Amino acid sequence: MTDADLAAPTCLARPLPGELDTPVCAAARGADGRPLHAAALKFFWGPMDCGKSTMALQMNYNHARQGRRGLVTTRIDRSLGPRVTTRIGLAHDAIEVTDDLDLRALVRGRWAEGERVDYLICDEASFYSVAHVEQMAELVDHDDVDVFAFGLATDFRSCFFPAAQRLFELADEVARIQVEVLCWCGREGLLNARVVGGRVVREGEQVVIGDTVPDAQVRYQVLCRRHHRAGDLGPRP
Ligand SMILES: [Zn+2]
Repeated sequence: MTDADLAAPTCLARPLPGELDTPVCAAARGADGRPLHAAALKFFWGPMDCGKSTMALQMNYNHARQGRRGLVTTRIDRSLGPRVTTRIGLAHDAIEVTDDLDLRALVRGRWAEGERVDYLICDEASFYSVAHVEQMAELVDHDDVDVFAFGLATDFRSCFFPAAQRLFELADEVARIQVEVLCWCGREGLLNARVVGGRVVREGEQVVIGDTVPDAQVRYQVLCRRHHRAGDLGPRP
């Protein structure tokens, strides 16, 4: 091996944090002039209350601190507005994802206006459409935009949300969020039960807005698999 082999490469395909403006060779830049860094599609999933939205905002904060610029999107946030809100009080303005919103057009439109977009934070991604997930993959592969998606894996019947399933199929990296949510019995909470009139229901629309307060007409409660299957909500508080 010669000294030349050991020399630092002249093309920095993956700039270190804070070095996004490091000069790189032309081949390592995208069409918009940004340095390419091998973007990735990552899906972080877990049941209600496990801190997904908190982690989404933390991720946004971390990347912004490194000088990167991103967009935050959501759908059916608990605030029912175009915001990401968290149970522990953090909040951030967000773009509401509707069926006719094209995430590729969203990013490319911002670029056309001269705005930098290095990444997307997609909260409540299980409520997006499968087409949105395909758009995320294209943004990663074609435009070198990182996409960090956060959401539930399964619905109240313990079946995949279509978008979540597609994320499991396509994501470069899938991670279960490791904040323990416990069932009333003390086991790890895994599944979201829909509770209507005090009973666990297993039929109905896949997405129904509910609450987590005990006396809501439609509410959701995290249960272990055993008690989700049994429909056992535990002793009344
Ligand atoms: Zn249980």
